[in-house]
Parts: sequence; structure tokens; C-alpha cells
Amino acid sequence: MSFADDNQKKQLFKCPFCGAVSLSIRELDHTIPHFNEVLLVWHCSNCGYKHVDIFSLKHGEPKRFILKVSSPKDLYAKVIRSKNCTIKIPELGVIIEPGPAAHGFITNVEGVIERVIENFKRMIILYDYDEKDFEKISEKFLLAKQGKLSFTLVLEDPTGMSAIIPSYDGQEIIVEKLNTNNSEK
Ligand SMILES: [Zn+2]
Repeated sequence: MSFADDNQKKQLFKCPFCGAVSLSIRELDHTIPHFNEVLLVWHCSNCGYKHVDIFSLKHGEPKRFILKVSSPKDLYAKVIRSKNCTIKIPELGVIIEPGPAAHGFITNVEGVIERVIENFKRMIILYDYDEKDFEKISEKFLLAKQGKLSFTLVLEDPTGMSAIIPSYDGQEIIVEKLNTNNSEK
């Protein structure tokens, strides 16, 4: 499954400082393949908040990242998904498997939920789901996006190049070694 990455670049997030929806996340280094090193710039056009981070993501051990989202501030954790990564949200029945056309992307938890909703809309069109089902499920997604519904975000990457990065001190993110044997599936 692929995502329209143009949307990602124009996407604006709520600024953790002034609360305006004018925070952009830019990825500066497009020339380095496979996210070995990424320079990220957060910038709020409303209050001027700016934050720069460099992430080094070397091909490594298979890893699983687990984040419990239980309040709106958890939605700001950064999510780096390589194209080999599977995203799971068990409470919402979401599994996004890497496909041949999968892109890597960098966003935050809120952005992941937005992608899930977009994906889901596309599925509805493709498979002609019942509209009532759609409303029921998208309501849950929207609550999750606002941090009003607790859920668990799981990233599983056999190449170890994906990550969830905490957005505040003390935010708990579990990192496990991923067992890539088929027995786990
Ligand atoms: Zn701001």
C-alpha cells in the first residue's frame, strides 16, 4: 500500500507550544537513501518555535517499538517508518504491511492516524463497504486522533530502521528485539 507523500509535506500539526495548527515537519536530507541519516526540522509559523533533530538509523537488529497512547500529548511522539516496517494498532484492528510500493515516512502519531484514515477511505472505495460501518469505524479513528481513545502503536521493522521517538521527557516507549522467525506470525 502506498501513500501520497505530497500530502505529508504540506501537512500541518498542532504546535505543542502555542496550540495553533501551524507546525510543519520538514525532512531536509532527501539525498540519503533508506533513511540512514535524516535531518528533521519542526517549525511553527505562528509562534516561531523551531526544533532541529538528526536521526541516524543504521540498518540493524530487527526491532519492535511499542507506544501506549493515553493522552493527547502522546500524539506528538515522532514516528519514523522505513519502507520495511509494519504498523499495527491492535485496538483499532489496523495492520499496515509493507508492500512493494510502500514509502518510508516521517510524521508523528497523529499523522499516522491520518494516514490510516486516508487508507481506510481508499479501501472503502475499492471494496464498496457499507457506509454505516465506515462511519462507525472512522468515528473511532477520529477519537484516537484527538487522543480521546487509548490505543497502542506498534512498529515492527526487520531492518531496524524505523523508530518512535519520545516527544517529552519520561514518555515511555518500549523497544524490543523482534523475532523474525515465522513462528511469531
Ligand atoms: Zn506555535
